[in-house]
Parts: sequence; C-alpha cells; structure tokens
Amino acid sequence: MLNIEEALKAILDHATPLTPVSMPLDEAAGLVLAENVIAHGNVPPFANSAMDGFAVLATDIQQASEAMPVRLRILEDVPAGSIATQPVRPGTAIRIMTGAPLPGGADTVVHVEVTRAEGNDVLILLALKNGVNVRSAGEDMKDGAIVLAAGTVLRPGEVGVSAAAGHATVTVHPRVHVAILTTGSELVNADQVPGPGQIRDANAHSLRAQVAAMGAEPVVFARVPDTRAAVRTALERALAQTDVVLTNGGVSVGDYDFLKDVLQEMGAELVFWRVKQKPGKPMAFWTLGSRHIVGLPGNPVSCMVCAEEYVRPMVRRMMGHALLYRPVRTAVLDERYAKGADARRTHFVRVRLQERDGVLHATLTGPQGSGILTSMALAMGIAVIPEETPVVEAGQTIDVQLTDLPEDH
Ligand code: AMP
Ligand code: MG
Repeated sequence: MLNIEEALKAILDHATPLTPVSMPLDEAAGLVLAENVIAHGNVPPFANSAMDGFAVLATDIQQASEAMPVRLRILEDVPAGSIATQPVRPGTAIRIMTGAPLPGGADTVVHVEVTRAEGNDVLILLALKNGVNVRSAGEDMKDGAIVLAAGTVLRPGEVGVSAAAGHATVTVHPRVHVAILTTGSELVNADQVPGPGQIRDANAHSLRAQVAAMGAEPVVFARVPDTRAAVRTALERALAQTDVVLTNGGVSVGDYDFLKDVLQEMGAELVFWRVKQKPGKPMAFWTLGSRHIVGLPGNPVSCMVCAEEYVRPMVRRMMGHALLYRPVRTAVLDERYAKGADARRTHFVRVRLQERDGVLHATLTGPQGSGILTSMALAMGIAVIPEETPVVEAGQTIDVQLTDLPEDH
C-alpha cells in the first residue's frame, strides 16, 4: 500500500498541462497563460492629465499662492477623447479633464481645487512642480514589453492588464473537464425522502462544488446503480467526454464494488489502489490512454478529503498552475488527538483555527468519522498527522493546510 506522498507523486506523474487554446479574455479568468502577453503600444498611449484642472507651464506658476494668485488666460477646453487645437504658451492655460491628452507646450496640470475661474481667465492659487498631475506615455506599459509572463494566473488584475495591452483573446491552458460519476444503489436525490435502506446522495454535490472551486469544469453524470453493466456504460460515456473521471463509491472490497473489475476489462492500467491514510484508504487511480480515473471512496468525508488532497493538485497541474498546494501553517493543537487502531496511517484531521496572541490554534471539528460530513462544513483547515505520529498531545504543534479563507467562515 502506498503512503500519501507516493500516491500523490503517482498521480502527478501522470498529470501534464492540457494543450493551450486561444479563448476570449472574458472566459479566461482564473486560467493560466500559456504565452507571454506583449503590450501592443504604450499604455497610456499619450501623456495625459491625471486630474480635472488646467494644463499650464510650470515656469508660469512658481510664485502662485492664495495671497498672490497667478492669472492665466484660458485658451480652450479639452475633455477626455479630444485633442487641444493649440499649444499652451506663457501666460495661458487650457482647461483639461482627467484622461485628456496634455496639450503641446504644457508640462503640468493644476487641479481645479486650487484654481478660481474668472471669465476667460483662471487664477492659480498654488505653485506646483513641473510634471505634477501628468501621466507620461507608457508609464504603465511600454510598447512591446512583456507585461504578463506565460504561467501567470489571470486574476482580475491580469485580465485588466491584458485588455489594456490590446488582447481580447488570450492563449491559456483550458479548464479541465472533470466527470463526476456517483455509484451506489442506496442513493436518492437530495430532494427525496430516503426509503428503507436509502440515503441521500451528498457526493455528487460536494464533488461538483469542489471541482468548480478548483477552477475546473464539473460534468455530472447520472447516478450509477451497483451493477457491472451500468458501471461500464457510465464509465465509457464519461471517458469519451472528459479529461478526468472521478468515480465515487464502489472501490472498496464489498461484493458490489465492481469498479476495479470493470476498468480492468476496459483495459485501464491500475496505478494504485489503497493509500495509507485516514480517511480515504480505498482510493484508487487508473490511466486509460490519455485519460485519468480517480476512484474516490464513497464515504462522504473520504470522498471530499481525497478530492482535496489528490484531485485538486492534479487538476491544477493539468491547468498549468505552478503552485499546486494550499498554504501550510504550523498550529498548536489545543486538544489531544490519538490515532488509535489506525496509528500507522497518515490522518487528515479537520480543524477549526483561531489566532490568539499571534499564535495559530487548532481544535478538532468534532467526531472525525468518515461519515461525519458536518466535519467538512466546519473545517477551516486540514491537519496532517504523519504516519509516524500515533498521538498528538494537547499543546503540541501540527501542520495545517489552509483550505479556506478567513472570510469563508
Ligand atoms: P462505498 O465506498 O460505495 O462502499 O460507500 C461507503 C459509504 O459511503 C456507504 O455507507 C455509502 O452509503 C456511503 N456513500 C456512498 N456514496 C455516497 C454518496 N454519493 N453520498 C452519500 N453517501 C455515500
Ligand atoms: Mg457503494
């Protein structure tokens, strides 16, 4: 049985970034650039005013003050999108709006708050240094410069930069299409009242949300009853339509756990089955041609934890991300945690986090059973208790993966 590092490595070794595609900028938010973005022209393209006010020659206003205003003649008005018809000369000013091109001759803009208009004249009440309130051509981006390097994630700021640089389409690694195949004859829809022996299907929904949060495209397939034929049909359909197939359930050692047999019949290569971890021991991973199949356990917590620990890094690599993992911080565990019978497995323990006097403290979310789904709802992070640590005493430190932002809780 592999340990968690070996299992993760086996998965990542099979994950390569998807072939880049070109797509509209507005569809690419959250994706990773596969090519540099070059500025098409200077940004801004021309020197312009940073304020509403008056374009002047700095030499004209060096003595200006409230007590001794400098009087200049207003030649004309230039709103944004227009161009002055004449240069500013000594003793004159042009009324200018934010973003309008700086008229010839002018080198400085006096903001309107320190001026007083008098008919065709303006009184300047403050001396300003040469160049104040002027944005120079190319001060943000220089023509031909690489403004975003390949590998950069298109966050809202990068989307804006791309647009300003002249790119309405960008070349990115596309979203991974992730099939969600839920198995289990005992499952009913979330809006149904379970009959005898039935339970509501949580995994189809939690997985879909997780996959979407990874920035990938979830493709949810109809639930699959525990029969060989149904499992095979569903797998064939999902493999034909997506890059990665996530099955959940049916991967243990039960008599109705057909997944392994069916995938073998289909020619898939089993890379591993079972990992020294809790929850999530029955997890499996196969490849079939260029497709990947992750067999997630059916227990709802195991399913979510394995998606977080393995599917998320895999999907991120396929989408071209350089950073695959959550940030990890050291926290003081405020209560004792003993692994008990499963001491030789890595435990993923769901915790709540609180910063006190500059120290991060963790407490368990409550019972840690693989069916206690509320432990996932409460969790702010996942503490990783290594294979070789059977007990963590209260007050000892642990490593916690920060799965959530503080604002999420
Ligand atoms: P399995 O891995 O199929 O043996 O399922 C393990 C446990 O998880 C069983 O108690 C199942 O009833 C439960 N389970 C499996 N799939 C789901 C699901 N989609 N939603 C909620 N519970 C599930
Ligand atoms: Mg099952």
